Amino acid sequence: TLKGKTAVITGSNSGIGLGIAWEMARAGADVVLNSFTDSADDHALAARMAKETGVSVRYIQADMSKGTECRTLIEKAGRCDILINNAGIQHVAAIDEFPTEKWDAIIAINLTSAFHTTAVALPMMRKSGWGRVINISSAHGLTASPYKSAYIAAKHGVVGLTKTTALETAQEPITANAICPGYVLTPLVEAQIPDTMKEYDMSREDVIKNVMLTRQPSKEFATVEQLGGTAVFLASDAAAQITGTTISVDGGWTAL
Ligand code: NAD
Repeated sequence: TLKGKTAVITGSNSGIGLGIAWEMARAGADVVLNSFTDSADDHALAARMAKETGVSVRYIQADMSKGTECRTLIEKAGRCDILINNAGIQHVAAIDEFPTEKWDAIIAINLTSAFHTTAVALPMMRKSGWGRVINISSAHGLTASPYKSAYIAAKHGVVGLTKTTALETAQEPITANAICPGYVLTPLVEAQIPDTMKEYDMSREDVIKNVMLTRQPSKEFATVEQLGGTAVFLASDAAAQITGTTISVDGGWTAL
């Protein structure tokens, strides 16, 4: 059980971050949800999670593209035993046509934010005598595809930051690891299915198997619950000697 621990999950009002937040709450951790918005829905989500799981859940607005806001997120949380760097965006274009502002935003949100949050969280973990840093990289943190230069550079960078964090905390009761998901059916991915069906004149099943999951040998999406379970495992005592490494949850993608 993670009772008494506080998990801060960046970018957690949707998708994988939200799935991880639910599993952390079910495992007994208090939760801090985050995104760049500050809507009634965001706060209602926190209230519902608290009611259904019995842990304390707060929503703290902060824009992970801004270094100072990354740092104040952790300061406002007040305590951060489990830091999950999850916020991320994507943009698809060839390098010679890639908009510079998209490159900068992806590097800031997907990579640099984790540097800022980790920098503030590590002293808190040292003070409380226990900590877990869990960075959400990607199968694209270990392999590449065309037209996703910024995302792939950022996700490879996350793996490097994870290893360095692990070495700087190696003799302390703190670990740092990266989870590398393959394709996960988040709202973001779901929204692409109807258009792709039209483009290829294919059924939903064919789009999923033959377009989206071409590189995922299992031909199944990983689920946000499975990613949440992986994060809870990395936070457990069983994982105390697992540090500086990556765990792929990708249906065999990186075995190809
Ligand atoms: P998503 O769009 O559902 O979730 C992204 C989250 O990040 C949202 O909560 C969003 O509000 C938040 N976010 C975006 N910009 C932000 C900002 N500037 N400040 C704060 N929060 C911000 O996408 P997802 O699929 O759940 O992705 C979550 C993470 O998992 C990302 O890092 C992504 O790269 C990674 N990932 C996703 C997949 C997949 O197939 N879905 C695969 C591998 C890795």
